[in-house]
Amino acid sequence: MNNPDFRAGPKARAVVLRDFAQPLALTEFDLPTPPDGGMTVACRYGGICGTDLHLAEGHLDVPLPLVLGHEGLGTVHRLGEGTTTDTVGHPLAVGDTVMWASSIACGSCHACRTLREPTLCAGRRTYGVNRPTTEHPLAGSWADFISLDPGTTVVRVSPETDPLAAMSLACAGPTMVHALWERCPPRAGQTVVVQGSGPVGLAAAALAQLCGAYVIIVGGPPARLKTARAAGIGDRCLEVVSSGDLGGAYEAIAACSDGRGADLVIECTGVPQAVEQGTRMVRRGGSYLIVGQYTDGGNAWFNPHQIVYRQLRVIGSWAFTGAHLIEYMRLLPALTARFDLSGLVTAFPLDQVEQALRQVATGGVIKAVLAT
Ligand SMILES: [Zn+2]
Ligand SMILES: [Zn+2]
Repeated sequence: MNNPDFRAGPKARAVVLRDFAQPLALTEFDLPTPPDGGMTVACRYGGICGTDLHLAEGHLDVPLPLVLGHEGLGTVHRLGEGTTTDTVGHPLAVGDTVMWASSIACGSCHACRTLREPTLCAGRRTYGVNRPTTEHPLAGSWADFISLDPGTTVVRVSPETDPLAAMSLACAGPTMVHALWERCPPRAGQTVVVQGSGPVGLAAAALAQLCGAYVIIVGGPPARLKTARAAGIGDRCLEVVSSGDLGGAYEAIAACSDGRGADLVIECTGVPQAVEQGTRMVRRGGSYLIVGQYTDGGNAWFNPHQIVYRQLRVIGSWAFTGAHLIEYMRLLPALTARFDLSGLVTAFPLDQVEQALRQVATGGVIKAVLAT
């Protein structure tokens, strides 16, 4: 497994989830021939997302065994028959650096065809989530190689782009492009509150800042907010995790908004109780955008009077499509010119996946990636 000539051989190591809540193991697979219209990519980085923790623990109904990893960046190893360009039309050659979207919408269900909402596709195929090794041996990014199917959104990464910066918001960036560009756009001059300071919260804050909003991050712990500030993300950060007391945060938000509350509050915590707190941060007539409740964390108590009294627009946003990844990649130069995104990332060797997951679970790192 530690053979230095490994890449010369026909095998690929991959992190396989065999049983929920059990240690993850590296397994060797034969390197498949790239499918027609697809490609084989040598993974350089596989991102660890909060969703992966839930997958590993069995909180989501997914088929096993499974190679994990739905975010990735790597170099083209072999192009399948008929593959000549990336999804936006750039010529593609072996050795080019690429990123790819985690899922492929079916194109034929009610959401895809009639609602024009491919994020709601009932038949999404998602790398690292619902592609079991029995049918798709290398369909996750926590591996030396990944086999990408035809129909995958693949975007060539320019040589000027720092790969770690691109990986910093690999899943969170496109998720927030969908949420903010389509579901509820922030506007220049608005006061925007972001609840949560993980990758999704920091992506929300950075994109809202790019739009010209004044952004207050409500999150924690202190070290995480310090890293965010060092990266230039958030005009103001309010620490609430260590104290658990939001009284000061409500006051500070009011003080920043002539006593009214935020024009837009974006929930990026994944904690059900945060929704009740968030409704009280929005001004009357404002908007509440809920993005963080991707995994079902259970019920939350809240007072629905707050929604009526404040006449809130409450909006949900689910996942993203390949088009949102393309938009995220297009925004990367603007994002990296303003924010130190690579400073958010900690890289771990592929065979230290357990240590990396522990760091993500305990909040020891903001964004972990596995490096091959
Ligand atoms: Zn993700
Ligand atoms: Zn569909």
